[in-house]
Amino acid sequence: MTRTVYVNGEYLPENEAKISIFDRGFLMADGIYEVTSVLDGKLIDFAGHAARLERSANELDLALPVDMDELIEIHRKLVELNGIEEGMVYLQVTRGAPADRDFAFPDPDEVPSSIVLFTQNKPGLAESPAAKTGIKVISIEDVRWGRRDIKTVQLLYPSMGKMMAKKAGVDDAWMVEDGKVTEGTSNNAYIVKNGTIITRHLGNEILAGITRNAVLRFAQEAQMKVEERSFTIDEAKDADEAFVTSASTFVMPVVEVDGAQIGEGTPGPVATRLREIYLEESRKAAV
Ligand code: PLP
Repeated sequence: MTRTVYVNGEYLPENEAKISIFDRGFLMADGIYEVTSVLDGKLIDFAGHAARLERSANELDLALPVDMDELIEIHRKLVELNGIEEGMVYLQVTRGAPADRDFAFPDPDEVPSSIVLFTQNKPGLAESPAAKTGIKVISIEDVRWGRRDIKTVQLLYPSMGKMMAKKAGVDDAWMVEDGKVTEGTSNNAYIVKNGTIITRHLGNEILAGITRNAVLRFAQEAQMKVEERSFTIDEAKDADEAFVTSASTFVMPVVEVDGAQIGEGTPGPVATRLREIYLEESRKAAV
């Protein structure tokens, strides 16, 4: 099926949508993005994704070409036009296409930012089989840049990390810096020890996950103990449970790290419960 996508003010069939070869997203990875999940045809945590987009744009002095009311309307229209019940909406804003390649930013009054949105249809997203078995991860060195709190489209190293994981016969990689886990290739990482949920504190070293924010809030509301601090791979191997969170996987149990089984080697009760709460509460709050 041909998707309808959104490019710079127009709704078009995906094969007719075009971006210039001079677009700074293409040439310089000078762009930011968001991924919002869709369940029951509605947007999950939209306000959080919109707020983070604004923050990413501010940090990079990047002008957003639409306001937040327009943004939700575009999301909703694409969900409707493409008949998405379960899936995602991908949004990317770049610093536009100047007349030539140049390291210096173009004048935003002369070169408007580019904006692209498209949907991804994922029937069964919430009933992922991986959530029932858990996933396996390896650890890799985190060699990304120092502003991982900004959600940029510079995803080469996370993609390489995914390939390292694939080559090792596992599902994903946890990145490690100075001996401490930062995050997964496209998710936030957690361990559970003696009932306490441990996940790295926010800072420039990791992305402030929108799902992380919601999950930690639900955990606290459910009287679970939360510690925001960094942890090592050895602590993960010795943990009772582990899991990751992201907009597209929600809460996903992790049952093995670097070949060592975590806990019983099956999804643990904390991750399982948090997944249930997250899906239930975010469905209720979907817009
Ligand atoms: N960390 C990284 C590096 C990511 O790429 C992502 C999502 O893509 C996350 C964390 C999770 O963020 P969110 O829960 O907002 O999807």
